[in-house]
Amino acid sequence: MKRVSILGSTGSIGSQVLDVAARLHDRIQIVALAAHSNVDLLVDQARRFHPALVSIGKESLAGQLRERLRDLPDIEVASGNEGWLRAATLAQADQVVVSVAGAPGLLPTLAAIDEGKQIALASKEVLVAAGEIVMRRAREKGVSIVPIDSEHSAIFQCLNGEDPAAIDKILLTASGGPFRHLPAEEIERVTPEQALAHPTWKMGKKITVDSATLINKGLEIIEAHWLFGVEAEKVEVVIHPQSIVHSLVRFADGSVIAQLGLPDMRLPIQYALLYPERIDTGLPRLDLLEVGALTFEAPDLRKFPSLRLAQIAASTGGTMPAVFNAADEVAVGLFLDGKIGFTDIIVLIERAMSRHEPMQTPDLEDILAADAWARRATAASIEGAKIAGS
Ligand code: MG
Repeated sequence: MKRVSILGSTGSIGSQVLDVAARLHDRIQIVALAAHSNVDLLVDQARRFHPALVSIGKESLAGQLRERLRDLPDIEVASGNEGWLRAATLAQADQVVVSVAGAPGLLPTLAAIDEGKQIALASKEVLVAAGEIVMRRAREKGVSIVPIDSEHSAIFQCLNGEDPAAIDKILLTASGGPFRHLPAEEIERVTPEQALAHPTWKMGKKITVDSATLINKGLEIIEAHWLFGVEAEKVEVVIHPQSIVHSLVRFADGSVIAQLGLPDMRLPIQYALLYPERIDTGLPRLDLLEVGALTFEAPDLRKFPSLRLAQIAASTGGTMPAVFNAADEVAVGLFLDGKIGFTDIIVLIERAMSRHEPMQTPDLEDILAADAWARRATAASIEGAKIAGS
């Protein structure tokens, strides 16, 4: 029996982790559920899985959560930053799933590693902001970090039993998002509704917008750089609209190994939960004859400058990736609130990066300071940006 704690249980990934855990109830026991603010769903999940601990991030909702679970006195209720840390370090947990939206997953992830918990990582922002610190600490503690991100799960599987020194190139596939065929001059007028309609994956809002700008792919370049210890220049993005080949690795001898599957996150989730074991997922199987053609094309870097920005952030290193990530989180929020246009997201990230004096070999405090600065600077800079609709 593996005992699992989920940070971000009410989000898209967290809910699917629980679907997989319910199916594997004789193998997986949920011991902690932590969510940001969705009390209704968290209460449902607590009743269904009966964990030892539930936690709500938003302090003001703690009383309501406690009240609604009053008839289950053996479930401990926690809240706020303390609650995230309690769920990450709970003595009963063997593995911690980190699927909390954005950079707030960083401190609980480090706390879980310090306690020797195995990590199943869905929040790529954790590695983007502080990859060097997180990977070093995981090595020191002998903790494995198994990615849930579909591309990174694919690369992880391709590298099974291989010498990382023999990696020649990582080929990161991207669906291309909903605007692959949209003329460059129309991209400016994209609305949140259009950006939220992803062609192949059903995901949370932030990552869906990030997929439309290709920022998500930029974050994934940096994630792969840290996770697999390869230079960012060795990670190449290939547009693959069918989302069947989840990524590929080319080795020194020219051989290319790929992982394929239908686009369903429950597959990489189960892989991360049961690694290294493979058992039936109960999901539909990939039928290559039904798919027919798999196509590949180069990304349009003029239309999607995000990939270039991510490469700059990765090669600058230090605190720059944290700024890239934090500016994006704020800019996506402003776009979804109708305060800026679609292409302004990139403008704001570029502006934050150009104003930032990156610090090399930062410690955790330096990273958190850079992250906080980028959030403030991006939120304050919209007076100078073009406002949506104008
Ligand atoms: Mg992905």
